[in-house]
Amino acid sequence: MKHPENDELYKGLKVNKGVADVPTVNPYLQKRIQRKNYTPAEYVEGILKGNITILSQAVTLIESARMEHQQVAQEIIEKCLPHAGKSVRIGITGVPGAGKSTSIDAFGIHLLEQGRKLAVLAIDPSSERSKGSILGDKTRMEDLSREKNAFIRPSPSAGSLGGVARKTRETIVLCEAAGFDTIFVETVGVGQSETAVHSMVDFFLLIQLAGTGDELQGIKRGIMEMADGIIINKADGDNIDKANLAAAQFRNALHLFPPTDSGWIPKVLTYSGYYKLRINEIWDMVDEYMTFTKANGFFEWKRKEQSKYWMYESINDTLKDVFYHNPLIESRLKSTEMKVLNNELSSFMAAKEIIDLFLQNISGGERGGS
Ligand code: GDP
Repeated sequence: MKHPENDELYKGLKVNKGVADVPTVNPYLQKRIQRKNYTPAEYVEGILKGNITILSQAVTLIESARMEHQQVAQEIIEKCLPHAGKSVRIGITGVPGAGKSTSIDAFGIHLLEQGRKLAVLAIDPSSERSKGSILGDKTRMEDLSREKNAFIRPSPSAGSLGGVARKTRETIVLCEAAGFDTIFVETVGVGQSETAVHSMVDFFLLIQLAGTGDELQGIKRGIMEMADGIIINKADGDNIDKANLAAAQFRNALHLFPPTDSGWIPKVLTYSGYYKLRINEIWDMVDEYMTFTKANGFFEWKRKEQSKYWMYESINDTLKDVFYHNPLIESRLKSTEMKVLNNELSSFMAAKEIIDLFLQNISGGERGGS
């Protein structure tokens, strides 16, 4: 080819060698676009091999509201169930600022050093409203997020606490099948969500602070009653004495509670998540609890009770869903509600009317269909 460089006219000019163009599409995105649609069996195979990418994608299916995703997710869960159940499940709660993320980071590194594999999940029923979950966020657990044996997943966002909790419980199954032998379920210490976490963990850890004046910090009695261990964080520097004092107050308060079903006497410890002080004592406590409850049969009993609880939760959820999405019910609810507001009908009668209508509708529907 004749090149201008060689032309008499352009003598002295030099053509430089070109460089490759930068990609116009972000290669990361390209990879995502090419993401394979796995069959349920392929998902399960990947999960059992401990493939984190496939595990994450399967969790995304669990979290999806789309019916077709839910069906695949349920199939994956069914197939993973025989491989699940072999982990230690720990619930961790505390008010914002108590040091949950700092502590989980420190606990996690401690456990990884012992050769364990850790999944950190979260239940945050407010994530829908705040448009994004804070709990279980990787950026909060800097050290842990760099570890290949740690899997961190923020709270699923769904309308109801029940929905969020169910998804987290299903995610536990997949994580266990993927070989994670320790599962943390984090929640924020403000009430309802603790009950949900309590219904899916073996050990419930309450993080508290000292030195705020009101040592019991308005923590609901119910939450304290659920705790198998209360740990007072930030027991470092000038705060050590205050932490010890708070620990004594918590021990006294616990004495007033009735004995636990497990026969375990909840312990109160002080530690520092930030300076990583006495973290090992906390894990000795958890190990001691496991040995104790496995020996007296409580561990097995509690897991069975939890399975039963979740069966009924599922039935309740499904019934509610079918009921409120029934077109006839949808069309009649508002007018019946108006009658109650106008004192034309009592609440009880209104409910009965609507439920009778539903029952007639579904039995009529069945006859029609057969
Ligand atoms: P979370 O909202 O419960 O997750 O709490 P964070 O882990 O974000 O901690 C809240 C604040 O407390 C941060 O500024 C931490 O650095 C600090 N903090 C956490 N743990 C400790 C600790 O053990 N000692 C001290 N002195 N500060 C801590």
